[in-house]
Amino acid sequence: MHHFQTRNGEMHCEGVPLRRIARRVGTPVYVYSHATLSHHYKVFDAAFASMPHVICYSMKANSNGSVIRSFTNLGSGVDIVSGGELARALAAGAPPGKIVYSGVGKKVWEIEAALRRGILMFNVESREELEAIDAVAGRMRKRAPISIRVNPDVDPKTHPYISTGLKKNKFGIHIGQAVKDYEWAARRKHIEVVGVDCHIGSQLTDVAPFVDAAERVRSLVDRLLDMGLRIRLVDIGGGLGIRYNDELPPHPKQYADAVVKAFRGLPVTLVLEPGRVLVGNAGVLVTEVLYTKPIPAPDGKGRKYFFIVDAAMNDLARPSLYGSYHAILPVGKAPRGKVTADVVGPICESGDFLARDRAMPPYAAGDLLAVMSAGAYGFSMSSNYNTRPRAAEVMVSGSRFEIVRERETVRDVFRDERTASFLMQGRRRKS
Ligand SMILES: *Cc1c(COP(=O)(O)O)cnc(C)c1O
Repeated sequence: MHHFQTRNGEMHCEGVPLRRIARRVGTPVYVYSHATLSHHYKVFDAAFASMPHVICYSMKANSNGSVIRSFTNLGSGVDIVSGGELARALAAGAPPGKIVYSGVGKKVWEIEAALRRGILMFNVESREELEAIDAVAGRMRKRAPISIRVNPDVDPKTHPYISTGLKKNKFGIHIGQAVKDYEWAARRKHIEVVGVDCHIGSQLTDVAPFVDAAERVRSLVDRLLDMGLRIRLVDIGGGLGIRYNDELPPHPKQYADAVVKAFRGLPVTLVLEPGRVLVGNAGVLVTEVLYTKPIPAPDGKGRKYFFIVDAAMNDLARPSLYGSYHAILPVGKAPRGKVTADVVGPICESGDFLARDRAMPPYAAGDLLAVMSAGAYGFSMSSNYNTRPRAAEVMVSGSRFEIVRERETVRDVFRDERTASFLMQGRRRKS
């Protein structure tokens, strides 16, 4: 469910025509629907009502402060993966006691910052990281709350770049070895074992892998409780998929029921780390067609088109990175007919495309297009490649819209560069 609908031939975000935003703010621009963000959070939260739980929005999916605050205003915590995300989560109103910190490469300053703020727990991914956290906490005379991220070795059958719960992935500690790391951790003076964590991948469209993982985690929790460890948090990560094209992902309620079933009766609080499912369909990327270019079709039959638009792989990397599908719809009335086209950006890479060999209306220069389901891993993965200033971000609520991140200027992009002094020798200072 989302709030991007076409009325009278114009696509709206809630009550605002996308064309009005494009005219005011320019393109490319990300547009987020606040009503959709809230709705997704509430549905997800309600799905877990039968068990104590904390939702920690996985902010790497979309790190805009207004997006984070949309959730923290509803009581959400945040799942972070860096010291930078910690600062941003706190700035967006996240209570430290609802922050969980994941990631394989936490640095000393990041561990210190998280300990100073008193986060809910560290999700630890290796024995050496446990040692580092113990040492840092010792210096600070604190006890660090930890869970071990276990790798349950289940295949989420998603794209290889976004599966994380297989033995061969860099994430977590293999579930078969975790007990001895838990035993070790439980003896450390500056570590407090509080939970078990796993996250098996992203864009999962089937509950079966979640069930497999949950069952394996449940056995481990039972064993740890038998050993006398006080496990009170069970974090089952994120990863629930959304519909981009013809996927049929489970409803949050089906997902929640399957997870809750695995942990029913345990005296624990569930921690959920949803990212994509909360924000993916709450955002679109609006772009303008700059040029169209026909070429002979590769099969020799007829023609194919390039629609060259002003958004590119630096704005939305998913198609180039994973071959992902994003629906592309007209913002205004579409021209009649269908042609085969690639929608491509201005970047000097053949991998720079938003859609390939797609049947679509014969758009013309000046047409506005909406790249759908771009709220997750869109802006947050964007870059300045080709010295392209990053896009503006806008949030809509009802009939209002506000810029929630200004478009970068070209000057912003290279402001922090310095010319090495030894390159300036031929250009003696005047004076
Ligand atoms: C990326 C990530 C998530 C969120 O994944 P989604 O597929 O966006 O729900 C949750 N937990 C961890 C540890 C992650 O790395």
